[in-house]
Amino acid sequence: MQESAAGTTDAQAEVAEKSRADAHPDQAFGSDPLAVRESDHYAEEYNEGFVDKWDELIDWKGRYESEGSFFVDLLRKHGVESVLDAATGTGFHSVRMLEAGFDTTSVDGAAEMLAKAFENGKQYGDYVLKVVHSDWRWLSKDVQGKYDAIVCLGNSFTHLFDENDRRKALAEFYAVLKHDGLLIIDQRNYDSILDDGFSSKHTYYYCGDQVSAEPEYVDDGLARFRYEFPDGSLYHLNMFPLRKNYLRRLLREVGFQKVDTYGDFQEAYGNDNAPDFFVHVATKE
Ligand code: SAM
Repeated sequence: MQESAAGTTDAQAEVAEKSRADAHPDQAFGSDPLAVRESDHYAEEYNEGFVDKWDELIDWKGRYESEGSFFVDLLRKHGVESVLDAATGTGFHSVRMLEAGFDTTSVDGAAEMLAKAFENGKQYGDYVLKVVHSDWRWLSKDVQGKYDAIVCLGNSFTHLFDENDRRKALAEFYAVLKHDGLLIIDQRNYDSILDDGFSSKHTYYYCGDQVSAEPEYVDDGLARFRYEFPDGSLYHLNMFPLRKNYLRRLLREVGFQKVDTYGDFQEAYGNDNAPDFFVHVATKE
């Protein structure tokens, strides 16, 4: 469903009412979920129940198969040794990178996510994750040293609603990278969702076929997604619909010299509407 950003429409009121009736009580979206457009809200959205469900949602095995070695190959191609996983979540990419031999540090702003990632590290290969609880906007305060690469994956950057927060987070990423470091950051194809309506084939990131992940409401400043699980449980995430060229511009403006964008892991992805996800590779040199 797509809506205009202007005013409160009947449809908007209906969505807000439905969200109120259905929402998981711990997620604390309040009486008007469509008004929740804050960069600080993510930690409440990823409460314990949702964190446990997240692994069902992202389906590690399916994701492993569909992503293949795309990120590992990119990191190797750039001679990377140390990587900071800025949006660790439940640890999928941290484990993948440890397995590939990278010196990996796992950051997240949500403590529940890091706890689950630590458990998953033990479970999938007996890795002891080096975890750092930090918000991207103050990353250099919490993280020691400089890294060859930062990855911020799984459509995570979309959690920042304010342009100043986005600029600050990217500047912090830039600061903790070595002089020739690179940032790999991905996003849903929100241009296509905003311009043409939602049509994701759910091929890459949300590959759990038991789980439906659909936008419940979209305007220029909010994409509210609804995640429904086989046991009937229902969760929501409020996200900012980042446009592809806007994020590319921000990356250049904070100082990254070159930004290459892949669509669904392909360098030549043709039409901008076709991919479900974009991956940006931004380099300092
Ligand atoms: N990368 C993981 C994946 O692909 O499965 C997790 C993705 S999840 C959509 C987004 C993650 O970003 C969450 O774990 C959330 O806590 C984290 N996050 C969101 N905003 C953040 C911020 N400002 N600082 C640090 N972490 C943040």
